[in-house]
Order: sequence, then structure tokens, then C-alpha cells
Amino acid sequence: MTEPVSAPKTATQTKANIKTKGKARAPAATTGAEMLSCINPATGEVLGQVPAVSPEQVQLAVARARLAQKAWACSSFAQRRRVLEHLLRSVLERTDEICESVVQSSGKTWENALLGEVMTVCAKLRWVIDNGERHLKSEKVGSGILPHKRGRIDYVPLGVVACIVPWNYPFQNIFGSVAAPLMAGNAVIIKPSEAVAWSSALFQSLLDEALQSEGFSADTVQIVDGAGATGAALVRAGVQKILFIGSAGNGRRIIEGSAQTLTPVIMELGGKDPFIVCDDADLDQALHAALGGCFINLGQNCVASERLIVQAPVYDAFIEKVTAATRALRQGVPTGPGTQDVGAVCTAQQMQVIETLVNDALEKGARALAGGKRLPGQGNFFPPTILVDVTPQMRIAREEVFGPVMLIFKVADDAEAIALANSTEFGLQASVITRDRARGQRLAAQLESGGVCINDFGMCYLNQDLPFGGVKASGFGAMNGRDGLRAYTCARAVLEDRFGFSVLPKIYPVKPGDYAKAKGMIRLLFGRGLAQKARALRQLIKPQ
Ligand code: NAD
Repeated sequence: MTEPVSAPKTATQTKANIKTKGKARAPAATTGAEMLSCINPATGEVLGQVPAVSPEQVQLAVARARLAQKAWACSSFAQRRRVLEHLLRSVLERTDEICESVVQSSGKTWENALLGEVMTVCAKLRWVIDNGERHLKSEKVGSGILPHKRGRIDYVPLGVVACIVPWNYPFQNIFGSVAAPLMAGNAVIIKPSEAVAWSSALFQSLLDEALQSEGFSADTVQIVDGAGATGAALVRAGVQKILFIGSAGNGRRIIEGSAQTLTPVIMELGGKDPFIVCDDADLDQALHAALGGCFINLGQNCVASERLIVQAPVYDAFIEKVTAATRALRQGVPTGPGTQDVGAVCTAQQMQVIETLVNDALEKGARALAGGKRLPGQGNFFPPTILVDVTPQMRIAREEVFGPVMLIFKVADDAEAIALANSTEFGLQASVITRDRARGQRLAAQLESGGVCINDFGMCYLNQDLPFGGVKASGFGAMNGRDGLRAYTCARAVLEDRFGFSVLPKIYPVKPGDYAKAKGMIRLLFGRGLAQKARALRQLIKPQ
């Protein structure tokens, strides 16, 4: 639905979304449409404008998706695999173009675009292609107390799925969200963040090409650009399921909206992940995991290791190592691969959140061992920052920063580490660094989180066999793995005759001996021991 209106960088961006197989799509831009300004946050350069999709156009998009889904739902798993294979091939062939687009719209480094976005999407597509049918095909189950029947679960597509996603991974948030509902036979409408709308046209063209290569309508997957109003319209548009990835505050708004239509939701919300460094940890390993956990994508990760909880015996040595490594990180405009270690903060609004929380902490007595305030000049640059002496009174101890700020807390032992780790409202992921496998498992079991990485940072996401999601204010429902696929289906129960004939007990009219017979049958089925079963059988066959 999107078409950038100023001179775009690539030809591909202009041709996206205008036509689908000879059929013109409803134009996204109508006279007077609200325009989204697209800015490169690293340079301040205006990339262009993208029309916001109005609430009425959202309704039309859902109606078209509903039509397209009818054909898609009838497709075989082999056809769906071929569409996803096409998509995967396009991603591999056009990697540089995708990276360039996300670097421009988000200000991240080329390496993060490649590894955090392209690689993650490839892993997701490959997993769904290879495992989708296995988890989505009909499944035989037992027939319980009905031996003359056969039970089966059919994983039936839901219809139209809405995905409302944030800006931190412009490519991955879209393609990583689409793969599972699509494989499960649904049409998908995605609303990316208005902050990265510049990339949508390119992404829509990749989706269109893949669907049309197998003769399916491009309306099967549609990107609708816009801000909160477009998202809110999508929530009310009568879709069958909503995946929301974003802040806990907006998550609550989505749930309020979806309550009106009783639309089920998956909530992938924020985090304040703890990262426990035990006194027996390999400190070099801890250092690299911590740098990755805190500063990859400049900390704009739901699974960022925002709270380092370091045990007293290794605290000083760890602080020394991590401070030196953090101060050495290169930050600036990512002009090409290898030019920077970290990039820019994606939005001015996020910059403000980071500054407010850091300033509050500094005013209340925290010390910055690295960074601490935004860099002067053009571009949204907040440097990789380390704060120590953080107390529970500081907002930053509890609230999500979603930026390059590593908080380091000193604790005496495992018990104190766990208590501190579980002390926020969030529960997305967590890390434990220790040389002792049993200790790692013991600590992991006590953490209140949707996932735990032992001796690593948020890597659970990369293992597509694992479910991904949070607990507490970090949300509910899974994104990856078997559960993440089946989340986009109705697990329909089917009961049919086991043999070529039906056995239908007569229930009406009720006869005087029926109650005693039924009691005998219940005892026969559920009683324990031969003697009890024999008594029940006698009662059952006794003439009444
Ligand atoms: P956000 O909540 O501001 O926006 C997310 C999306 O919701 C955007 O597309 C936005 O336009 C839309 N939106 C805003 N108001 C809406 C409304 N009233 N109705 C419908 N849609 C609305 O989040 P953000 O700032 O874009 O992203 C940062 C947040 O996302 C952080 O909290 C981060 O932890 C979280 N996040 C979570 C995960 C996860 O998997 N758990 C992944 C990435 C980011």
C-alpha cells in the first residue's frame, strides 16, 4: 500500500505496490493523505515522504486480504514452501539493497543490518520452510473413552492476521512476523513503525514478487504504513488475530481495542533483561556477551541486557575490562560495512527517553564510567554508556531504556542476584554467565523470564526451534518454534467413525435402569483393580 513520493534511492522502491498482476491496488495516497516524513537518523537527511494509510484504507486492505486468503488457504504446503523459498532467494540475492535501505531508515550499522536482520530472517524462513508442514499438518490423537471413534486435530488457518511492529529491526520485524502466519494459510496485514516507513516499498515488492511467482494475489500480504491511528484502525478492522510487537503501554491500548471485537492477541513487549555474572565466570566470555547484549543495534533490542548483575569477587576486574572495551567502541554515520561499531538512535523520541532516564540517574547519584550524554552535532548519537551506583529510587533501575546503557549492579551471592534479577515488572529474557553447568541451570530455573541463555546474551531468538516470548509485563504468546506457527491456526477437533459404520447409543427416552447402567459403565471405565471392574461389569449387564 505504500509508495514513497519523493525521489527514492532505488528503482525498486518506486515500482513497489503500484500494480499487482495487472490489477491496480487501491492507491495509498489520496489527496490530503497524511504524509510520514522519513529521515535518516544518523545524518538528519530527509529521505522522502510516505503517505499514511487512512483508517478507511485499512478497512479496504483487510477486505482485499480476506478475498486473497480464500485462495491462499486452499494452497498446498508445497506451494507455500515455494513462495517462501522465492522470498528467501530474493533476500539472498538482494542482501545489499535490503541492508542499505535499513541502514538509511534506522541509522544502524551495516553489520547489524546483515546479522540482526537479514540473517535472522533467513533463519526464520529456512526453519518455516523445513518444519512448517510437520507442525501444521493434521495430527492423529487418541480417542479416549470412545474406542469406536477416531480423533484428529486439524490446524486450520484463522483468516487475516494483523502484525503491528516497531522500528528497531525494520526488515526483520516485518519478514520475521509474516513467515509463520503465511505458512499457516493466513493473509497478513503488517503495520510497521512510521519511523521506518521508508523501507516498506522495497519490502512490499519482495513479498509481491514471491506471491505472484506462484500465481497468488499480492493482496495476501500487505504493508500498511502509518502511525498509531493506522494501527488502531487495524485493531478494529475485524482481523482474526493480532501480533503486537512494541511497548507495554501501547500493548495495553491494543488489548483494550481488541477486547471490543474479542480478537485474540500475541503480545511481544518490552524488557529489562538481567545478565548475571557469577564469581566463577570466564570474564572474557562475560565481557563479549555483555557488549553484545547491551550495545548491538545500540541497545535498541527488546532483549537487551540492560542490567548487569555482577558478583562481588569479580566486580572490579569486570568493570575494568568492560569500561575499556566500551570506551573503545566507534560510533558515527555508518557509511559502509566496517565503518562503525555502533550507529544512531533510530528516533528523536527514543533519544529523549534515553536522555531523560540517564539524566535522572546521574542527578540521583549514579556515575557514568563511559558515555553519559548525547554527542553534539548532526544525527541522533547517544554513546555506549555504563552507569554504576544505580539505586532502586532511580527510574532507570526499573524502566526500559531501549538504548545503549549498561547498568552494573554489585551483588554478594546467587540469592541476591536472583532477587535483583526478578525485581522489575518485565520478564522477557535473561542471561547467566558461569563455568558451572549445574549452577547455571539452578539459577536459570529461578529467573522470571520467557527465556534464559546460559553463557550468552539474547540468542534464544536465533534458535528457531525455541519459542520466543515473555512473561509478566513483557507479554504473552510465542513467536518462534512450533507454538509460534500454531498460534496462527485454530486447532480444530475432528471426531469421526473408526470403522465403516456408526455406533450411536440411544439416549432418549430415558428408561428406569439407565442411571444404574451408566454408573456401572463409569466404574468399569475408571475404577481401579480387577475386582472393582468385575463388579461394575456385573452391574452393567444385570437385567433391570
Ligand atoms: P511502540 O509501542 O511505540 O510502537 C509499536 C507499533 O505500534 C508501531 O508500529 C506504532 O505505530 C504502533 N502503535 C502505536 N500506537 C498504537 C495504537 N494506539 N494502536 C495500534 N498501534 C499503535 O514501540 P516502538 O517504540 O516502536 O518500539 C519499542 C518497543 O518495542 C520497546 O518497548 C521494545 O522492547 C519493544 N519490542 C519488543 C519486541 C519483542 O519481541 N518482545 C521486539 C522489538 C521491540
